[in-house]
Amino acid sequence: LFVSFEGIDGSGKSTQARLLADALRAEGHDVVLTREPGGSPGAEEIRALVLQGDPERWSAETELLLFNAARRDHLERTIRPALEAGRVVICDRFADSTRMYQGLSRGDLRSAADQLHALMIGVEPDLTLLIDMEPVAALARAKARAGSEERFEDFGVGLQERMRAGFLALAKEFASRFRVIDGNRDEVLVAGDVMAAIRGPLRT
Ligand code: C5P
Repeated sequence: LFVSFEGIDGSGKSTQARLLADALRAEGHDVVLTREPGGSPGAEEIRALVLQGDPERWSAETELLLFNAARRDHLERTIRPALEAGRVVICDRFADSTRMYQGLSRGDLRSAADQLHALMIGVEPDLTLLIDMEPVAALARAKARAGSEERFEDFGVGLQERMRAGFLALAKEFASRFRVIDGNRDEVLVAGDVMAAIRGPLRT
């Protein structure tokens, strides 16, 4: 089973991915918790290239290619082997993040993102949990814990609003695999909804 978490920065998706991995492991499931960009040694190197240093270093198009290169490596080295071994893969961000961030934040590259995905990745999660969060609160959270890697220049309520709306639109576009979870609540309540959402897919 392949599960992805999506949401804007500070939505709590990484916390929820970890809580879900812990809960499923406690039930005896064999779980791989991974993240993007990154999740394999090569993809983590690309992560450093795209998230650290000068944000103007790469054009929007080059950045899209780098994220796809990272995803391809992650898929080959980490995700596909784990799924073939029957493990549960929980991924903190996947291609939907590229549809949003590389696809919408620096111009309109959504169609290019979809074409590259079809050509080089081709896989979608069985279940995508969108942790939907109010942008002002999410931004405050993200800024409170931001490290050297966080893309501060991108942090603004305007972008967060656009990304939130974009993710909600994606959830409608790919309604069969998306579940939208209200992230504006205590993390224990959010985790309860995450567990409820995974029950059906876990059994099939
Ligand atoms: O999810 P995480 O906090 O690790 O993401 C790190 C940074 O990379 C965030 O600022 C996020 O907005 C950005 N990002 C991006 N494009 C992606 C995935 C993440 O710009 N496809």
